[in-house]
Amino acid sequence: MTTPTAQIGVTGLAVMGRNLARNFARHGHTVAIHNRTAAKTTALAEEFGHEGTFIPATTAAEFVAALERPRRLVIMVKAGGPTDAVIDEFAPLLEPGDMIIDGGNAHFADTRRREAALRPSGVHFVGAGISGGEEGALHGPSIMPGGSPESYESLGPLLEDIAAKADDGTPCCAHIGPDGAGHFVKMVHNGIEYADMQLIAEAYDLLRNVAGYEPAQIAETFHGWNKGRLDSYLIEITAEILAHKDAATGKPFVDVVADAAEQKGTGRWTVQTALDLGVPVSGIAEAVFARAVSGHGELRRSAAGLPGPHPSVLDPRDAARFADQVEQALYASKVISYTQGFHQIQAAGAEYGWDIDLGAVAALWRGGCIIRAAFLDDIRAAYAADPALPGLLADQRFATGVGEAQHAWRTVVASAARHGIAAPGFSASLAYYDALRAERLPAALTQGQRDYFGAHTYRRTDREGSFHTLWGGDR
Ligand code: NAP
Repeated sequence: MTTPTAQIGVTGLAVMGRNLARNFARHGHTVAIHNRTAAKTTALAEEFGHEGTFIPATTAAEFVAALERPRRLVIMVKAGGPTDAVIDEFAPLLEPGDMIIDGGNAHFADTRRREAALRPSGVHFVGAGISGGEEGALHGPSIMPGGSPESYESLGPLLEDIAAKADDGTPCCAHIGPDGAGHFVKMVHNGIEYADMQLIAEAYDLLRNVAGYEPAQIAETFHGWNKGRLDSYLIEITAEILAHKDAATGKPFVDVVADAAEQKGTGRWTVQTALDLGVPVSGIAEAVFARAVSGHGELRRSAAGLPGPHPSVLDPRDAARFADQVEQALYASKVISYTQGFHQIQAAGAEYGWDIDLGAVAALWRGGCIIRAAFLDDIRAAYAADPALPGLLADQRFATGVGEAQHAWRTVVASAARHGIAAPGFSASLAYYDALRAERLPAALTQGQRDYFGAHTYRRTDREGSFHTLWGGDR
């Protein structure tokens, strides 16, 4: 019989699980390790045994027996059916108070289902969103755990230990809320990541085809932006990618990569869920659709000869001013995608009864994850000042920043249209901004149409109640 000495166990030792297990071990925790294919377990112990204490287990029973009580068992296997299979294998071996932590990219609805199924047994099911890829898993990810508050009391210190730390030293990990809250927030994180990436791609396209900059010059421009309010991991790596030359051809790397962006699905989940919640996430949706458009090669080839302006380059004297305007458009559009993402989290909180601290969410995205950015500190401060903030644009700092950028933002969107360059992220974000600030929206006319053809009724501006007009008699 194994003496239970492991503070935590990790089953599923592919890139993520293996690095997460090493991260726990490097922080002085004894880690039980297990994988369906035992060779991966042995390999981890042999290769990295010097980093800390691992207890390799070949069977589920051995693995569970190695864990101190209450047991903390992390699953890092392929999302979907494999996660259910692993839960079914381990849950019967556990006792009330034990915890199963799913660190995979589960859909939050699956997490809700799994948590509800395990709750009667007294086993806590924790859906933990983990961001930062394999490097993050090893050196410090951003962790978004859901589940019961009791489970976080036991689990939180371990997770906070291995999580990334923000510049002020705070761990990038906090209890998000019950059942699927953690995986929901991780999903929205990925949706915002899609939007951030799309906006950066549009900025690059405009700098290249309107300002006439070469990739190396755009890399320099981004490098400069990274010293200001756009300081972020994604801007930093974009500058590096744009400066990179293809070894085989000597051409800019970006010119030898096929222009069809792929996706794994979390961006799509964000948009699908937003539709269900009735939350406008147009910036994120345009980012998902832009990847889809890029992948429809045949459709694109069939449209290649359609009339429209061909990109033309500005006079170099105007290019620098335009580049500055693009920076402003990028900042303002970025504020909009975060506004939309936080709105979605707020709406899900109301729908599912999660009490999510939005400031804490912004704070834990400051390190370890793909969207880490200096900007998140301003979001944290905005929600700290007013936890009930209706949206980021209601915060004075963001209202002023976007207000000052709005003229340049319009110039950039208009330039994109004039030069025949698709900028769906910039355009949709500006449309959202203008829709929010409009005193009257044409939705009044939409309601009139709905009443005309479907007797759907309408409300009036001058009286309470529900009204229907008897429209033209000869229909
Ligand atoms: P993965 O390729 O998604 O999954 C491989 C692991 O799943 C292997 O350990 C495999 O075991 C195990 N597995 C598959 N089917 C199984 C089954 N039916 N029963 C038991 N085990 C099974 O691994 P990953 O890339 O390390 O990702 C793990 C999880 O983290 C996924 O949910 C992923 O979406 C999520 N995630 C990944 C990243 C990333 O950057 N890769 C980032 C964040 C989150 P065998 O070795 O026996 O095949």
